[in-house]
Amino acid sequence: MIPFNRPTVTGNEIKYLSTAIASSKISGDGEFSQRCHDWFERQLACDKALLTPNCTQALEMAAILLDVQAGDEIIMPSYTFVSTANAFTLRGAKIVFVDVRKDTMNIDERLIESAISPKTKAIVVVHYAGVSCAMDEIMSIAERNKLFVVEDAAQAMMSCYKGRPLGSIGHMGAYSFHETKNYTSGGEGGLLILNDPQFIERAEIIREKGTNRNQFFRGMVAKYSWVDIGSSYLPSELQAAYLWAQLESADEINQRRLQVWQRYYQALKEFSNKGLIVLPEIPIDCQHNAHMFYIKVANTSLRFELIQFLADGGICAVFHYIPLHSSVAGKRLGVFHGEDMNTTIESERLLRLPMFFNITDVEVDMVISKIREFFIVKAVECN
Ligand SMILES: *Cc1c(COP(=O)(O)O)cnc(C)c1O
Repeated sequence: MIPFNRPTVTGNEIKYLSTAIASSKISGDGEFSQRCHDWFERQLACDKALLTPNCTQALEMAAILLDVQAGDEIIMPSYTFVSTANAFTLRGAKIVFVDVRKDTMNIDERLIESAISPKTKAIVVVHYAGVSCAMDEIMSIAERNKLFVVEDAAQAMMSCYKGRPLGSIGHMGAYSFHETKNYTSGGEGGLLILNDPQFIERAEIIREKGTNRNQFFRGMVAKYSWVDIGSSYLPSELQAAYLWAQLESADEINQRRLQVWQRYYQALKEFSNKGLIVLPEIPIDCQHNAHMFYIKVANTSLRFELIQFLADGGICAVFHYIPLHSSVAGKRLGVFHGEDMNTTIESERLLRLPMFFNITDVEVDMVISKIREFFIVKAVECN
């Protein structure tokens, strides 16, 4: 069986977990957390990087930091994970969904401006599959309209836009280290990236249950107390130790994933040339991280057949998001602005193939040959 995903493992995770355990400091913000924070601040050239227990909570922190209030409107794509929306609905915001581009499945930057109202507070972009949104255009729309931009870069660690790391371009960004992402901190994990120094002090307070505990440790205040709303947004030191092993191998992991992506792409071109499938497109300004390899087939029923065919051949391929605006909560908490030209129809055609760091070339070739077999059978059926 070729699974859809196997969590990334480099081999050093156990070693660093042992070191953390031996240090007797396994709650948050220990030695390994510090190393990870320094690594990200260097890598991203951001003002502050803060590990969180998952990306969902990094997004929740972003919503608190932006002072999102009941009645505020937040613009985002409907083709995304629930956490992108939940983080803001938890603060009472209304979600305004905007259609995605067909080529990248990212929010269509040309449709954002008409969705802005006097109540709009922020634009939340999602870099689907680790491929960047049109950040220059989006940042200038935000600037013109005095809006904040949050990058849900859950899938985008090691990706760039015009050479700039994703997550470091908007006012804030969030990464996920869930086991399905390119880098994991032991199954669950996340990072909040701050690109404006005005947010740093409050972020540290919100992350520490609304207390100024961090300032106390730095000797800036005599005792610490409750000063703001907050929650517990620190991951365990064991998560940081696990992640550190993967940060040390960040380039190697990225290079291998890109090789796998290229192997799929080169082999499947044959079918896209015949018009049987559509391959992902990487815009010229984007350097991606091979988070995902997806293809699009003609329609949902063909996708269903292909999933079944691959499953019978021992290969697990999966579809992805059901657009949020068509869900029960999405209908109640949000509204789709304009026409749904691409979101639903394109999401129903999309199929994700097995893609992970430790996949072998032999396994990739097996997936490719099963797809080839499927289209040969199909061609016979059609004649
Ligand atoms: C994975 C993912 C999340 C959530 O990440 P968690 O770490 O599981 O909370 C949010 N947004 C997007 C786009 C994701 O892919």
